[in-house]
Amino acid sequence: MSQTEKGILVVISGFSGAGKGTLMRRLLETHSKDYALSVSATTREPRPGETEGKDYFFVTREAFERMIEGGELIEYAQYVGNYYGTPRSYVEKQLAAGKSVILEIEIQGALNVRRLFPDTRLLFVTAPSAEELKNRLNGRGTESAEVIERRLKRAYEESQEIGRYDYLIVNDDLESSVEALHRIIQNEKEKRAQENLSFSVDSNQELIVQMQNELFSFSKGE
Ligand code: ADP
Ligand code: 5GP
Repeated sequence: MSQTEKGILVVISGFSGAGKGTLMRRLLETHSKDYALSVSATTREPRPGETEGKDYFFVTREAFERMIEGGELIEYAQYVGNYYGTPRSYVEKQLAAGKSVILEIEIQGALNVRRLFPDTRLLFVTAPSAEELKNRLNGRGTESAEVIERRLKRAYEESQEIGRYDYLIVNDDLESSVEALHRIIQNEKEKRAQENLSFSVDSNQELIVQMQNELFSFSKGE
């Protein structure tokens, strides 16, 4: 496998309602061959239209706690009263197969993943304004007023931590945001391939020949 074919691990986080799920779906529609999207386990109830095994693995608290104890999750966190976690086996398999793996997870999980895999790149997604964020959350119509309020409170806390991320995407126009996301990840891959190139045996032929010649002289006792 060449260096450009090697996948990278990317985390997408962002305020609830910023459009992360919508962005991910569109990215996979437009660039499916480049990415593998990890499906998390959660104890929250499915929203109308969400599919088991595609949006999440919906599990009970007991089942989730068994997954924690069995070491089946790379990371997990509690968010507004529910558990969310990343199954280990899929991520490891896809990375080994050279795919870039995207985890759409909240901030504590993001920081834990980067502790485990220091090369991980962290991207944060926001709506263009707090007002627009609130409108999107209300417009989605999938949470009660009370849960929306808790999610907006959590968004305020998350806004204090954006500085720990590598990139920010302001999800105003969806198609532009999808392309920005794709470009950021592809540029990261390319940058790493370039960095590795300077260490490759092929790029160091001159040095190798010089060493061979000098060592040849030594071997002759010169
Ligand atoms: P998240 O996964 O971040 O919680 P969603 O993807 O569910 O957010 O999006 C929240 C709402 O905002 C949805 O109703 C979605 O259709 C809408 N939305 C997403 N992206 C945009 C955008 N760029 N412009 C306008 N509305 C958007
Ligand atoms: P939602 O209920 O809106 O689908 O997700 C709530 C929050 O949980 C979002 O910030 C989402 O990114 C995060 N999340 C989803 N899956 C995981 C996961 O596996 N681990 C962690 N730490 N957060 C997750």
